[in-house]
Amino acid sequence: MSARILSGKEVAAELRSEVAARVAALGSRGKSVGLATILVGDDAASHVYVRNKHRAAEGAGMISFDCHLPAEASQAEVLAQVEELNEADEVDGYIVQLPLPAGLDPEPVLDAIDPAKDADGLHPVNLGKLVLGRPRLLPATPSGILRILDHYGIPTEGASALVVGRSFLVGRPLAIMLGLKGRDATVTLAHTRTRGLAELARKADLLVVAAGRAGLIGAEHVKPGATVIDVGTNHVGDRLVGDVDFESVVAVAGAITPVPGGVGPMTIASLLANTVAAAEARAEE
Ligand code: NAP
Repeated sequence: MSARILSGKEVAAELRSEVAARVAALGSRGKSVGLATILVGDDAASHVYVRNKHRAAEGAGMISFDCHLPAEASQAEVLAQVEELNEADEVDGYIVQLPLPAGLDPEPVLDAIDPAKDADGLHPVNLGKLVLGRPRLLPATPSGILRILDHYGIPTEGASALVVGRSFLVGRPLAIMLGLKGRDATVTLAHTRTRGLAELARKADLLVVAAGRAGLIGAEHVKPGATVIDVGTNHVGDRLVGDVDFESVVAVAGAITPVPGGVGPMTIASLLANTVAAAEARAEE
């Protein structure tokens, strides 16, 4: 038997069109929606990511603002740009593209973002609210993963979930979200110090892998019929692959996200969803 393929590409298209409808609804009340990016330096991959974000924002009817600072910008100049966007009435949400060039400390920069405009959903205030079970703007990638599960009607209640990877970007917030009331999974969070990863993985009804290690998970790690979400993006030669050996796991799992076309497209769509949610909240003020 072959697993059901969970197409993040399709789910993201659906989410983007929902966002576009909400943007249009605000527009009919005279409120435009603005998404901005701050890019410091000339990292080629970051340029591509930022361009894709602008394209997606404009595709959803938003106005996008591109703030580009030179690689030699000082910490104070980057912070001043953040403050400018915090004050800018036409900007509802924005992101600071990481990594920042060497010599700049990302932490104070990210902390200075107005939590109400935090399109990535990673500001300490938003992560804190999430832990308290009062989420506002959600971390983009984990929220995209939950949307995929919801779209395909995959229940999490009572499920045994293993999340591999504990970064603040993906694994840790996702583990919290899966365990919240309403999601009700029983969650294990694995990392490089975890003992018996294979055994833990074989018990999981839901296996989410966000380690950044190509081929970490093979068929021998997967419970027959389990749902496997592959967050990893690894460049192997000229191919983009996940952390899961898709060819072998697809024969064992009940459902699986491909790479590319799985979690990846959801991250930008979730960023747009946060931005329109931020705009709606501001419109209510
Ligand atoms: P990260 O900050 O490097 O964290 C990786 C995590 O995986 C760490 O917690 C690490 O454990 C754990 N890990 C690494 N090797 C492991 C192993 N052999 N066994 C168990 N745990 C292991 O990475 P990240 O930012 O979370 O990203 C993870 C992957 O997802 C990357 O490939 C990234 O490109 C991808 N990603 C994709 C999207 C998307 O939109 N598709 C979004 C974000 C990230 P320790 O904490 O012990 O070091």
